[in-house]
Amino acid sequence: MVPRDALLFGLGCERDESGWVTTDRTGRTSVPGVWAVGNVADPRAQVVTAAGAGSAAAFGIWSLIVFGRPPLRFGSSASNPAR
Ligand SMILES: Cc1cc2nc3c(=O)[nH]c(=O)nc-3n(C[C@H](O)[C@H](O)[C@H](O)COP(=O)(O)OP(=O)(O)OC[C@H]3O[C@@H](n4cnc5c(N)ncnc54)[C@H](O)[C@@H]3O)c2cc1C
Repeated sequence: MVPRDALLFGLGCERDESGWVTTDRTGRTSVPGVWAVGNVADPRAQVVTAAGAGSAAAFGIWSLIVFGRPPLRFGSSASNPAR
């Protein structure tokens, strides 16, 4: 498979040792504001997993916009300043 990822690396996104863009679990790349999911980031992606990854990325982006940070675990001290 040859992903069409020139834009990502043109923006400076990091690669792993196999040449694929590196992301966190929500698709966030090493470049702030740049997200990548589906076959451009995962050679094993299928339609259902690519769609799920897109959903996770949307949630991560929403959390960043609304809270200024990635989603946190429920009950973590960072999500509840009173703890
Ligand atoms: C031959 C084949 C058979 C497959 N069979 C199955 C199957 O049976 N079941 C299954 O679940 N999965 C199957 N897959 C895998 C599945 O197609 C992919 O995992 C899935 O489509 C990934 O979705 P995506 O959104 O990441 O990428 P894509 O579906 O490839 O979508 C990326 C889109 O971005 C567009 N694009 C690219 N560059 C640019 C640009 N610079 N500007 C604007 N648009 C751009 C492309 O034109 C494309 O429309 C198959 C794949 C192949 C190649």
